[in-house]
Amino acid sequence: MENLIILGTGIAGCTAAVYAARANLKPLLISGPEDGGQLTLTTDVENFPGFPEGVKGPELVQLCKKQAERFGTVFMVDIVEHCVKKDNLFELKLVGGDLLQTKALIVATGASARWLGIPSEEKYKGRGVTTCATCDGAFFKDKEVVVIGGGDSAMEESTFLTKFASKVTIVHRKDSFRASKIMQERALKNPKIKVVWNSEIAEIIGDGKKVNGVKLKDTTNGAISDFKCDGVFLAIGHVPNTAFLKGIIDVDELGYIRADKNMHTNVEGLFAAGDVQDKRFRQAITAAGSGCMAAMEAEKYLAERGVH
Ligand code: NDP
Repeated sequence: MENLIILGTGIAGCTAAVYAARANLKPLLISGPEDGGQLTLTTDVENFPGFPEGVKGPELVQLCKKQAERFGTVFMVDIVEHCVKKDNLFELKLVGGDLLQTKALIVATGASARWLGIPSEEKYKGRGVTTCATCDGAFFKDKEVVVIGGGDSAMEESTFLTKFASKVTIVHRKDSFRASKIMQERALKNPKIKVVWNSEIAEIIGDGKKVNGVKLKDTTNGAISDFKCDGVFLAIGHVPNTAFLKGIIDVDELGYIRADKNMHTNVEGLFAAGDVQDKRFRQAITAAGSGCMAAMEAEKYLAERGVH
């Protein structure tokens, strides 16, 4: 029986673990399928306080893990398949076969990259279609790639890809980006980056083994045109990882956990932190902040029930 289980080893889960471990709760931190969370897929983080020269995303999360470990957090690599609450205890069934019980639970399972959901994408996944420039960019040395999306991720990925690709084309369904000004400017002034406005991907085309182009659909008039490229990088946002909580917790229409300002959910003893409950800010610093709050509230909840 655990006092506190934290799900997710991203910055939210690791920060919650630092606080809970320092409160002597000996938390168990379960990694999930994307160990380290979204920060492991980014390059430079320039806006996390305390790093005036910036810090690499994977390094930031590793440092936070180390800090959690230092105070007694126990790490486990597995994935929660299902969660139920029985007699004031949470019962977690893991993919690896274990059945765990805990008095309190913090869900910091984050959000995962969104895919387009078209059949040709499925066919060419890993053969030229990807959601991670940091992971796959180097495979596109001197090649031409397209990046789909108009947010900060699309700007960041495009800029990063110019290290390898000979040409990067951002395809965006509108005529302006939602990305922050500084990231837009950085991308737009890069001579290797071009933009195709008002267009979306109708189909990904290839020779059966790898991508060699896309069919673009003009969102203003529906016209279809062919566009040659060797790779397709999707940067079209994220979906929260809450499927395993279906039926036990209150989520919004997009699947994000509804947590109050103190990170409480509608289930007593179950707290949420990070991107799994935040579709507005989604920053490393806000994820860390909410992880801290969730841990402090979990500590209070447990103390009221005699766990110190
Ligand atoms: P966003 O949700 O901000 O942007 C997603 C983009 O994808 C939008 O432009 C959206 O278009 C487009 N899109 C969504 N669905 C589709 C679709 N089916 N087909 C085509 N286009 C689609 O996600 P991001 O991942 O860019 O950013 C998430 C958060 O992370 C933000 O808060 C961002 O600031 C932050 N971030 C910060 C970074 C940094 O500071 N270093 C780096 C990366 C992200 P539309 O605009 O039309 O809705």
